[in-house]
Amino acid sequence: MSKIIKSIRGMHDLLPDDSHRWQSFEAIVRQLMAGYGYKEIRMPLVESTDLFCRSIGEVTDIVEKEMYTFEDRNGDRLSLRPEGTASCVRAGIQHGLLYNQVQRLWYSGPMFRHERPQKGRYRQFHQFGVEAYGIDTPDIDAELILIGTRLWKQLGLKGLRLELNTLGSNQARAEYKQILIDYLNQHKELLDEDSVRRLETNPLRILDSKNPAMKELLDNAPVLMDHLDDESRQQFDKLTASLDATGVEYTLNPRLVRGLDYYCKTVFEWVTDELGAQGTICAGGRYDGLVEQLGGKATPAIGFALGVERILALLESQQEKQIETIDAYLVLLGDASELRGLQLAEDIREKISDITMIAHCGGGSMKSQMKKADKSGAKMALILGEDELSNEQVTVKYLREKKEQITVKFSDLNKFLTESK
Ligand code: ATP
Ligand code: MG
Repeated sequence: MSKIIKSIRGMHDLLPDDSHRWQSFEAIVRQLMAGYGYKEIRMPLVESTDLFCRSIGEVTDIVEKEMYTFEDRNGDRLSLRPEGTASCVRAGIQHGLLYNQVQRLWYSGPMFRHERPQKGRYRQFHQFGVEAYGIDTPDIDAELILIGTRLWKQLGLKGLRLELNTLGSNQARAEYKQILIDYLNQHKELLDEDSVRRLETNPLRILDSKNPAMKELLDNAPVLMDHLDDESRQQFDKLTASLDATGVEYTLNPRLVRGLDYYCKTVFEWVTDELGAQGTICAGGRYDGLVEQLGGKATPAIGFALGVERILALLESQQEKQIETIDAYLVLLGDASELRGLQLAEDIREKISDITMIAHCGGGSMKSQMKKADKSGAKMALILGEDELSNEQVTVKYLREKKEQITVKFSDLNKFLTESK
């Protein structure tokens, strides 16, 4: 026998018993976004590597260590997308959607990062993201946070904490950068290798370090909040006032900097203590400079992205396991029943659009078909044998409840099935 080929480490199949959980998440998201007037955008999974280097930043974990980059047959350098924002901006510029316009967009799909696989951290994972362009006032920041908050509510997720910070204007951040460099330089011996290198290239990223050995040093570092420009401060105050007015709870976290270079002003994350080290389930912020940085006309922008695997893992741990049910399994005995059954099943599906029904295929005895009906998880078996056929009726056998079996005329079947749903 030849060797079995398995999926790539960190990249997983979504199996049939789990797909309904993803589908119900997707249905909720779709409806929620329509409710706020956001439209879906779909971008390719592969982009030119340059796009990510120029947006996410050369000196970030993603670009330095995590991207799947390769040359195609023409020798072009391409990457599997590690996130959606850069592609969304690229598409917006390319199709003239951004300049002097307001766009409210969302996307969802797989992202790729070559990280060490562990619970809640995969090499192919899925994000749902929301992006708003053309609005520079903090009312849109509040809208995005309200969308997130409503989503948790609709999903029934509990125990999420919203952490909030502002990174200030580019100038305020540049000034703060110097203050931070001075501080870190005084304690250079405590920095790890990555951080020493980033001291020159991207000192703010050091605050994002997950190395516990540097925690105390970073806890005592000067914070950007104390060096904010007036405009950023006013916008931030307005945002927090909107959140207070709408009853959204948040924690100010002056050390929240985010792992990507393009953020400015408002940044936020929703975190949970229930998923161990992979506790951030949703993250976002303002990125006013990115559109121009990627060659478009300056356009204010803000967005967030959530990790679908982490959301679903949290949901699963908080909720009782829900099994998907099948309404009916049609048992068909004999050639004539198979033919009539096929018509009957089509008629039922035509009339009851949300019915879930399996029509037996492959023949076999009553016993073997009933076994399959039971295994399918169906609530009832509709049995069509020779007797039933000549009486224009089916026998209904309940598979999960202790109820007497009954017969239902073909002419009453649609009504009966609708009422039993
Ligand atoms: P982390 O700090 O956990 O690495 P990140 O800052 O790299 O997260 P973002 O780039 O902001 O994450 O992506 C948004 C969300 O996507 C994260 O909050 C997380 O829920 C999810 N996510 C990111 N990387 C992965 C991954 N490798 N596997 C599963 N989900 C992920
Ligand atoms: Mg990461």
